[in-house]
Amino acid sequence: MNKDDDVFFTKEQIEKIIKKYPTPFHIYSEKLIRENAKKLNKYFSWVRGRGFKNFFAVKACPNPFIMEIVKEEGMGADCSSLPELMLAEAIGLKGENIMFTSNNTPEIEYKKAFELGAIINLDDITHISFLEKTLRKLPKIICFRYNPGPLRKTSKGNVIGNPEEAKYGLTKEQLFDAYRIMKNKGIKRFGLHTMIASNELREEAFVETAKMLLNLVVDITKKLGITFEFINLGGGIGIPYKPEQKEVDLNNISEEIKKIYEEKITKNNLPDIAILMENGRMVTGPFGYLITKVIHEKHIYKDYVGVDACMANLMRPGMYGAYHHITVLGKENKPRTHKYDVVGSLCENNDKFAIDRMLPKIEIGDLLAIHNSGAHGYAMGFNYNGKLRSAELLLKENGEVKLIRKAETPKDYFKTFNFPGSKYSFLAKN
Ligand SMILES: *Cc1c(COP(=O)(O)O)cnc(C)c1O
Repeated sequence: MNKDDDVFFTKEQIEKIIKKYPTPFHIYSEKLIRENAKKLNKYFSWVRGRGFKNFFAVKACPNPFIMEIVKEEGMGADCSSLPELMLAEAIGLKGENIMFTSNNTPEIEYKKAFELGAIINLDDITHISFLEKTLRKLPKIICFRYNPGPLRKTSKGNVIGNPEEAKYGLTKEQLFDAYRIMKNKGIKRFGLHTMIASNELREEAFVETAKMLLNLVVDITKKLGITFEFINLGGGIGIPYKPEQKEVDLNNISEEIKKIYEEKITKNNLPDIAILMENGRMVTGPFGYLITKVIHEKHIYKDYVGVDACMANLMRPGMYGAYHHITVLGKENKPRTHKYDVVGSLCENNDKFAIDRMLPKIEIGDLLAIHNSGAHGYAMGFNYNGKLRSAELLLKENGEVKLIRKAETPKDYFKTFNFPGSKYSFLAKN
């Protein structure tokens, strides 16, 4: 079989599953998520101090069953909203196993993060007083998010874009002030964060980021006499969405960062410092698929294949024109002889999973597996046009299929209003 169409289930398995859970749905592989998490941890096991830890960016796949798996593999949670903090709490994470990296943050979220003992990562210098006013005290450990602005350019296709245009973080100048203020307020424990990359496949990008942060740690330590417990490189490790792209070599990143660590930390006799990350996409992205059924075929100026999923189930192609590989189950070995647009049913012309995609000849009833839906897939779902979010399934290590989130029904759609006298107002009652 063509390697690009290698998936973790067979057509027969899916046909069995859809008897119980109709399409569309996302399906994730517990085994592959665990193997990948172990690999990431293994490569960075050399890190001293508090060691290495990835805080899973909850926004990538905000499902407690998935979060529980990555927690068991030693990951924390990176949250940036109240419900994300509640999810972390729900799976039993607390204290410094939660990173709260938010921006433009409402009071209630700082309160919750503090209550959980999370590491609070401030996005702006003005948030020092905002936090103090909100909490009437300060946490014992504090982190700031650095935005290098013009000091750092990122590659094309990077979703965050140029740091100078990004709304996040403090300038370099502000950073020194911010740590000084915190030191004067009696804070003794510090971290330094940045998040520049997004879906980045160039290994150098992460090495450069580590170098930039470790240099800053040295400078700030010298200037202010404070001690850093960790640097947080943010998330952003990319995944090969396109068949011709290559997976990031984590071992290579780790080896290069290790050299810089020895040079900056060990040789300068600085205390051991932990390396933290906040990857989401690479943790779950490749290990989920959106399964959808072909319900229509249409031939006008172009040839269309209509499926029962839509942009509400996976927004990336419609929103960013992102490529998601499509496998027609059972036709993996057939030549890709037909050019189609694969479309959903939204009244929006960008509701297309693929444009001008070469696929084997499609028949109504064919099952499509849309790759890499494990991150920013279900999570970006919405209800525009009255479309409902799908179910999420987990293929467990023991081969069982578990429903980890039900598909929405019209009842869910009606739940947030109660229009009197309507035939459907009863739906809002409970
Ligand atoms: C989105 C985000 C992440 C995770 O990014 P991935 O691309 O999923 O690795 C981590 N930290 C912050 C602050 C983010 O906004």
